[in-house]
Amino acid sequence: MDKYSTRDFDRDFPNDDACLEWLFNQRWPDGVFCNKCQRTTGHYRLNNRPVYSCEFCGSHVYPMAGTIFEGTRFSHLRLWFKAIAYMAVTRCGISSRQLSRDLGVTVKTGWRMFTQIRKILSENGDGSPLTGIVEVDETYVGGHRPGKRGRGAEGKTIVMGMVERNGRVRARIIPDVKARTLLPAIDATVSKDAVVHTDDLASYRGLGKMGYAQFTVAHSEKVYVTGDGIHTNSIEGFWSQLKRSIDGTYHHVSARHLQGYVDEYSFRYSHRNDQQAMFLTMLGRVVGVVA
Ligand SMILES: [Zn+2]
Repeated sequence: MDKYSTRDFDRDFPNDDACLEWLFNQRWPDGVFCNKCQRTTGHYRLNNRPVYSCEFCGSHVYPMAGTIFEGTRFSHLRLWFKAIAYMAVTRCGISSRQLSRDLGVTVKTGWRMFTQIRKILSENGDGSPLTGIVEVDETYVGGHRPGKRGRGAEGKTIVMGMVERNGRVRARIIPDVKARTLLPAIDATVSKDAVVHTDDLASYRGLGKMGYAQFTVAHSEKVYVTGDGIHTNSIEGFWSQLKRSIDGTYHHVSARHLQGYVDEYSFRYSHRNDQQAMFLTMLGRVVGVVA
């Protein structure tokens, strides 16, 4: 695993100016088109302000505007970058309180950074389709004990997950486990040439008709792995990690905040093998560019 350490961060982003310059270069890698000059022109940084100016006409551009940093004091920009780095590298999750402590900011500021950064972690819908062997499953989150399908599930939130074996995961909150809920979600997330592994829940029966190669493992008959390597152990492993993390870090996640947490956790899982790439990807999302 490529680690991304505090030392790496300090080298790449020694101060607010370096962060601003990074942001400027990410947003306008081919130069800034100046509306007044009607062409791409050189821009230089104005001293001590988060502003770049056209070298010909003096028009201003603001790299922080239109990003999650809009409205943030320039003197906090590096702190924000650091918060993103912390959230990228803490595989076991970090709470907003811990983030506040690590950054030396108030609980309120820490919470704001935490929630804003989570917004950029949502991969559902904008990633490329999952391919290869994809395991699909659902689980119940919340309450005192994990629920069983159709029993004791009151007050729990249902999360559906799809994971490439040895690869990326997508997870989302769903209202029920009916075919009309599960099948369109798979259709929107999983490539048609993927091989889909599920358990024997009846709602998954329509997958073949939709054009997927589907294999099921009969959990209802206590079968968990077949001789042909058909199983849903990867997604089950993801569920147990997710639930451990919720118990260990958050104690309780309200249904309202659960999707944000699931997004963050899925993002970390998908990028688990390379912290530096994960950090740069997260930063790239800040400006809508995936590194
Ligand atoms: Zn100009």
